[in-house]
Amino acid sequence: MSDTSNMDVFNHEAFSGHEQVVFCQDETTGLKAIIAIHSTALGPAAGGCRMWHYRDNSSALNDALRLSKGMSYKNAMAGLSLGGGKAVIIGDAKTDKSEELFRSFGRFVNGLGGQYITAEDVGISVSDMEVVSQETPHVAGLNSGLAASGDPSPFTARGTFNGIRAAVKHQLGKDSVAGLTVAVQGLGHVGWHLCKELHAAGAKLMVADINEDAVQHAVKEFGASAVSCDEILFVESDVVAPCALGAVLNETSIPKLKTKIVAGAANNQLAKDTDGMLLRDHNILYAPDYVINAGGIINVAAEIHGKYDRQWVDEKVAAIYDVLLDIFKRADQEQGATSAISDLIAQEKIAKASESGRPELKKDIVA
Ligand code: NAD
Repeated sequence: MSDTSNMDVFNHEAFSGHEQVVFCQDETTGLKAIIAIHSTALGPAAGGCRMWHYRDNSSALNDALRLSKGMSYKNAMAGLSLGGGKAVIIGDAKTDKSEELFRSFGRFVNGLGGQYITAEDVGISVSDMEVVSQETPHVAGLNSGLAASGDPSPFTARGTFNGIRAAVKHQLGKDSVAGLTVAVQGLGHVGWHLCKELHAAGAKLMVADINEDAVQHAVKEFGASAVSCDEILFVESDVVAPCALGAVLNETSIPKLKTKIVAGAANNQLAKDTDGMLLRDHNILYAPDYVINAGGIINVAAEIHGKYDRQWVDEKVAAIYDVLLDIFKRADQEQGATSAISDLIAQEKIAKASESGRPELKKDIVA
């Protein structure tokens, strides 16, 4: 390990509340992964697997712990009978992937006996998960199989679009995004579909991505304005939609924002919990990330349930609008950060489920 300073898991700040962390290593395939299970109070811990070239091992652990807690809160707020977990594979998604590596990861997931259910996240494709499924049934987001739900990204994008509409309604008193300027950071699986929805609804787009081809494609397809990656968060806009990586909202970036709303799909957008209040202090309405980006896990939940029901998925994804409006109203009443109010509601749901006993694994997960 190149950095062990933050590897004391029990005393790790982000470990609090977690049930289990599994460190996976397979020297034959080169697999190095961390599976973090935050909570199984509401059901089996479900959450995607991320593959990333982390700076060091402690960054990977930190990511896994923060993301898994986020999944518990996300699943609770989406009204799913699922707990929260997350896996990270340490490696470069462009150069380090192999069938053996994903089969090895699948065996580790299988060893957890259904306590953790994996799916796609950053750096992982549906075909990678198809390989994982050769070793374990505890995987979702597949193209094949009876209940296959496929790529969750369009559903995440649709939920994010619904969340942006809710934020626009609350903050600007408007029923439509037509004519509004939305700055989208990241044109990957979710960001691209989100741009498509926003463009169809008449929004003006400003976009940035480290992948210049994606930017040029968005300029051509959606008439978007290209902005540099350093500037996209800070352009004059009605909405900023972070759809790349986490911790983009912090004490340095927040005072520089020139927007009225931050509502995007990226996980863990706040660098620190206190940044939620900082956004409120700057009169910026923040749509809590794990609420607005729940569309994908809702779609995956339908697959875990064993019978894919598109209508159920569409209704739950549409409900993100109302869940967010309730959070925004309660935050105003209590003069609190939307992120803190959302955490509170999620914690209440998880605590209530813990009190009433854990559901059997593999039981009906649809609330
Ligand atoms: P992705 O890897 O397909 O896309 C991420 C994009 O961000 C890529 O195009 C990448 O080039 C770009 N990017 C990276 N660094 C950047 C930077 N500094 N500035 C601008 N662009 C940058 O990932 P995705 O599946 O689209 O997910 C995006 C975010 O949404 C992630 O935080 C992910 O955890 C979250 N999320 C995704 C889903 C889903 O269904 N895919 C669900 C919930 C949350």
